Amino acid sequence: MSEHRRLVVVGSGPAGLTAAIYTARAQLEPLVIEGEPSSTSDQPGGQLMLTTEVENFPGFVDGVMGPELMAAFRGQAQRFGAELRTAKVTKVDFTERPFRLWVAGDHGGEPDVTADAVIVATGAQSIMLGLPNESRLLGYGVSTCATCDGFFFRGKDIAVVGGGDSALEEALFLTKFADSVTIIHRRGELRASKVMQQRAFANPKIAFRWNAVVVDVEGESNVTGVTVRDVATGEESSLPLSGLFVAIGHAPNTAVFAGQLELRDNGYVRTFDGTRTSVEGVFACGDVQDDVYRQAITAAGSGCQAAIDAERWLEASHETA
Ligand code: NAP
Repeated sequence: MSEHRRLVVVGSGPAGLTAAIYTARAQLEPLVIEGEPSSTSDQPGGQLMLTTEVENFPGFVDGVMGPELMAAFRGQAQRFGAELRTAKVTKVDFTERPFRLWVAGDHGGEPDVTADAVIVATGAQSIMLGLPNESRLLGYGVSTCATCDGFFFRGKDIAVVGGGDSALEEALFLTKFADSVTIIHRRGELRASKVMQQRAFANPKIAFRWNAVVVDVEGESNVTGVTVRDVATGEESSLPLSGLFVAIGHAPNTAVFAGQLELRDNGYVRTFDGTRTSVEGVFACGDVQDDVYRQAITAAGSGCQAAIDAERWLEASHETA
């Protein structure tokens, strides 16, 4: 037997939990399908679970630890009656109402949950290099967000991996804090736009390590360096550093919605007029539809918008039903 809900939120980062707080306060008794830990870069609570100190979330004068902030979001959502379920949505059918969601196992059978409205907030993941010590030291010198963590590298020597616009943008931003920023790129030319390249080449704090791949991250409790392999010669060398920013792209968590929601060419959910998606009654917020700002506060803000959009849509569709 499927369980029916007026509103289901899929995802439990700042966007999903803000949507849960607002819809719970609107007495919609939301069910939050929060995800399941499946890898170091994919777990309930989203990307803030992978960060240490967050200093730019308004309201915390002295900063707050990422996991602590997410625990507060959860507690606040639960206080107003949101139900959080640790499960991963593995299939959806948005072709008819009520919408149907499966959380595991047998997709041939009845859906586990049906919903009048759905808020998609499954976020995005930074693409990582896939090195064991990279995940171990994530938050301890390895970072995927210069805006979030740059401040901690004041006066330090650091590196950025990648050759696209993100890598150069991160590197340029990081020169405000670091003494030196080495861009480690696997080829001999950058993918980034010409204007970004010009800016990076003109910056005296930025150096380049061409045709090089990071094969290990060094350090016990904090990053002390990286091992770099020259792709032409195969020679490996150690580069002493206090921080490594991985900027080789982001991937939205939209695989489960392919064929159900309109996605943009880069895989992010396409939204129209606020948080509406291509399916009436399904809303999207946070990083799953935002490849530009990608901040906890912007995700939370769009979670609030999605909640209000969903609430108004439910009210209007109820009146006309
Ligand atoms: P991207 O353009 O896909 O670049 C990824 C970079 O990482 C590439 O240089 C790639 O190398 C490298 N890379 C990928 N996998 C790697 C691996 N396993 N090991 C080492 N290096 C690896 O991604 P992005 O920079 O995040 O940008 C995404 C999109 O957003 C782009 O369209 C970009 O223009 C846009 N964007 C724009 C701005 C801006 O205009 N201010 C800022 C950020 C992003 P190769 O070059 O060898 O493939």
